[in-house]
Amino acid sequence: MTDQFDKKHLWHPYTSMLNPLPTFKVKCAYGSMIELEDGRTMIDGMSSWWCTIHGYNHPALNQAVKDQLDKMSHVMFGGLTHEPAIELGKLLLQITPPTLDKIFYADSGSVSVEVALKMAVQYWTAQGKHQKTNFVTTRSGYHGDTWNAMSVCDPVTGMHQVFGSCLPIRYFVPAPQSRYGETWIQEDIQALADTLATHHENIAAMIIEPIVQGAGGMRFYHPEYLRQAKVLCEKYNVLMIFDEIATGFGRTGKMFAWEHANVEPDIMCIGKGLTGGYMTLAATLTNTHIAEVISSGEAGVFMHGPTFMANPLACAVALKSTELLVSQDWQSNIQRIEATLLKYLQPLNDLDTVENVRVLGAIGVVEMKNAVNIAVLQDEFVRRGIWVRPFGRLVYVMPPYVITDDELTFLLTQLAEVVQNQVSA
Ligand code: PMP
Repeated sequence: MTDQFDKKHLWHPYTSMLNPLPTFKVKCAYGSMIELEDGRTMIDGMSSWWCTIHGYNHPALNQAVKDQLDKMSHVMFGGLTHEPAIELGKLLLQITPPTLDKIFYADSGSVSVEVALKMAVQYWTAQGKHQKTNFVTTRSGYHGDTWNAMSVCDPVTGMHQVFGSCLPIRYFVPAPQSRYGETWIQEDIQALADTLATHHENIAAMIIEPIVQGAGGMRFYHPEYLRQAKVLCEKYNVLMIFDEIATGFGRTGKMFAWEHANVEPDIMCIGKGLTGGYMTLAATLTNTHIAEVISSGEAGVFMHGPTFMANPLACAVALKSTELLVSQDWQSNIQRIEATLLKYLQPLNDLDTVENVRVLGAIGVVEMKNAVNIAVLQDEFVRRGIWVRPFGRLVYVMPPYVITDDELTFLLTQLAEVVQNQVSA
């Protein structure tokens, strides 16, 4: 099944060139279905890493790209502007935290994180606070693969092992232990309080994924952590950056995860579901105050300007995708998915091999006690007609919102059987 050219020449994410995991060649994809070259079909449990919220090959999204293509696929954003960027901006301001009103379009999630970190540093240097250049974050976080984004990822499960000596050294506090929906443990905030008390003069911002720590462990934590973190950040003059790249666009049951805590960040990153998974686009949002302080500094401008900034094709499809989302009763739909995830996944909690099952919005996680054999499981999932890609000890799903009840039931019953078979394996 693995294509030989692909195997020999194409690098895949986090993959060895000596001993690559098999890849499955996709012919096409539609709705919640991925069709392989050999004719097999799979129900998609991954939304292509949180992105394809409306499913694949959506007629309205296809049309938005085609319409824009006939006008222009790209123009530089330096000195020029265009309707898709403007209309998308207007819509984003309606659904993001009310205090945020300045948007910087970036090319990918990681780049939007770099932009957020740079905004925080420029904000303080513009005020003569040249020592406020470092960042504090929690363990088990994930913020992307570029240099500074890597530096704020979990130092154990992230890439510090490989790049540690050349990464900037950040302040890490333990990941929140109080789980979402359970009792708040007040000690949870202590390490952050201590770190800020001691080092705030060197810290520009705290960066955190609100409520759901994604690729760093699929952990759902208590909203009180964000509330108390915000109070501390304000007390110590440290900005708060929310990385909503994975949590955004309804995935956790709220449009954005800050709403679970009702805490607004100073800077926020969005991406992934922004274009409905059609192409790469992200954005970093901030408020007027921060934007004006940055602009009044010595540089006089914010120092970032990528070639493909606000790419019109990407903005046009992002506009259509977001319009599609807000025009429907997406909350009820996420609740429907959440209820079904709970129904089929929760019983797995009783298995000896399972550490914990958790569900929030359209995210379902089965945390195993031991690491799974990805190659074996992957093969088994594909054989059963579902697309689920585990990592470490985590078997998880975040299906497209268009998934039907029948498709979701099939996905979850197959997944549950594979997990159950791990017992006897
Ligand atoms: N932040 C979070 C929370 C993410 O989940 C991701 C992607 N998994 C990123 C940043 C990086 O985004 P990208 O892969 O688009 O660079």
